[in-house]
Amino acid sequence: MRIVVKVGTSTLAHAGGRLNIRHVEELVKVLSDLKNAGHEMIVVSSGAIGMGAGKLGLSRPKDMPTKQAAASVGQCELMYTYDKLFSEYSHTVGQILVTREDFDRAPRLMNLENTLYRLLQLGAIPIINENDTVATEEIAVGDNDTMGAIVAKYMRADLLVLLSDINGLYTADPHTHPDARLIDRVEEITPEIEALAGGAGSSLGTGGMATKLMAARIATTAGVEMVIANGERAAVLYDIVEGRAAGTRFLPRRSPLLKEVLV
Ligand code: GLU
Repeated sequence: MRIVVKVGTSTLAHAGGRLNIRHVEELVKVLSDLKNAGHEMIVVSSGAIGMGAGKLGLSRPKDMPTKQAAASVGQCELMYTYDKLFSEYSHTVGQILVTREDFDRAPRLMNLENTLYRLLQLGAIPIINENDTVATEEIAVGDNDTMGAIVAKYMRADLLVLLSDINGLYTADPHTHPDARLIDRVEEITPEIEALAGGAGSSLGTGGMATKLMAARIATTAGVEMVIANGERAAVLYDIVEGRAAGTRFLPRRSPLLKEVLV
């Protein structure tokens, strides 16, 4: 399978922005193992701004230049960490930083796709993030949930997994409704499902349930199955890939056969 795994800042970093070593180590181990099992892995990783802020001792940067400076520092730390940990399992990573223009303009999109396909052919694991140091609001995708879905669509992935600090989509906000139930399977994103999405989630990341549902819409329309799961336990990826119940699974809209023809 070709699998795109998007990892949120809340999984990679502690609340103050310092690296969550246990989470990252477990994640890299499971991703390496899935690759060893024959799957093609593409990672969309957040964490640049959050980890840069942590390293620079800034709490929640708000203005654009500070966010971009934090991203510049954090992206280095992020890739250094991935490179070091994936190397322990003899895997090679490649960094890809993009903005919305790279998807919107045909020649740039083609270049991007070619690079990604070649990295996969060469057996490397592409790690993608927004190029936050230059991406102002006008040219940014804005959140990595959407970015993950766009990548999964263009790379004709079989599966997109969004790892976050929540277990999935609930019937109500589980923080305020203790009786809220996890929805394990969504066949269609109806207005009722959309009404369940609130605003942004954690303090350092950008996404929330709204961006995750947006991602689900993009992915499932392109024929890609999507799962929202908790990144607290990276082994959840085994359950997802092997088809066991985990998180919230959004079923693809088109058959795999049509996907080949239409995407
Ligand atoms: N690109 C941002 C970062 O690396 C994250 C965006 C998001 O949280 O969706 O910090």
